[in-house]
Amino acid sequence: MSHAATAVEVEFVVKTIEEMGYQARPMPGKQRTAVGLVGNDGKVDASRLLGLDGVLEVIHVSQPYKQVSREWQSENTLVRLPGGLTIGGEEIVVMAGPCAVETEAQIIESARAVRDAGAVILRGGAFKPRTSPYSFQGLGKKGLALLKKAREETGLLIVTEALDPEGVEAVADVADIIQLGARNMQNFSLLKAAGRTRKPILLKRGIAATITELLLSAEYLLAEGNDQVILCERGIRSFDPATRNVFDLTAIPVVHRLSHLPIIADPSHGTGLRDKVTPMARAAVAAGADGLMIEVHPRPDRALSDGAQSLTPEQFAELMKQCRAIAEVIGRRVAEPVGV
Ligand code: PEP
Ligand code: MN
Repeated sequence: MSHAATAVEVEFVVKTIEEMGYQARPMPGKQRTAVGLVGNDGKVDASRLLGLDGVLEVIHVSQPYKQVSREWQSENTLVRLPGGLTIGGEEIVVMAGPCAVETEAQIIESARAVRDAGAVILRGGAFKPRTSPYSFQGLGKKGLALLKKAREETGLLIVTEALDPEGVEAVADVADIIQLGARNMQNFSLLKAAGRTRKPILLKRGIAATITELLLSAEYLLAEGNDQVILCERGIRSFDPATRNVFDLTAIPVVHRLSHLPIIADPSHGTGLRDKVTPMARAAVAAGADGLMIEVHPRPDRALSDGAQSLTPEQFAELMKQCRAIAEVIGRRVAEPVGV
């Protein structure tokens, strides 16, 4: 709509779209209001809309995804978390903690260590997606209870994974951000269930997913009414066994161009090797990542999962220091802990 469009003109456009058999989504922006049209299979004949009062232009979204695209919303989405923390703005938000919740002592010690180094969100899986059915599967509900305790003791926000649609509610009760893992990026019933919650979602890129597929999976969440979505680059499968995955840093500027959603980077799963995590975390910040997810364990040699890629608390503190310096160079800053 044009700058000067009135509320009545916007409302008339909405009614017209609905009369045409589609759904209308008005989106008031800083400069002007846009009205999104969803529910079409092919190109919409826009001539009827173009002539309406207050309509400035009709932009056809050329990508297969719609609501996640920059064409749909030009301003960055800010994901809002308790305590006033946001993801997608100037601040770079760091989430850190062990791969899995193992014991009360382990998660509390991890939480204190990452908080002391400056992380603002505690990560830790209670439900673990493991390649082998014989590997540690996580503590389940008990793990969630321990995360809740860690939140109470440290004030850190919590990000933890939901593995299936049935588990989403229980995770949402404890988590400030619901993580959907790489193996589940195209679990469409899980995406729909998570999209129906009103909790922010961290959606990780699948191990062999294209960026278009990642954005289409995010579209499922927005289509269910949840626009609080953070994307995560965590490395993709390649032919080279030198590292666990190929950490696709290019995805960060590519996603920023195609979508208004924030994207964070996970160099722990992205490389799989402890000594590669800090260099790639620095690179991710330099590439424009809106946050980092880092695996940290008080004793990585005793970790029940992903010990080889987990940093010690001391290594993590050094990573934070270096990333703060990089952030400053590009005019951003690493988010500081906030009171919850
Ligand atoms: C994790 O972050 O705990 C995890 C399992 O990561 P991914 O889904 O990226 O493999
Ligand atoms: Mn892990």
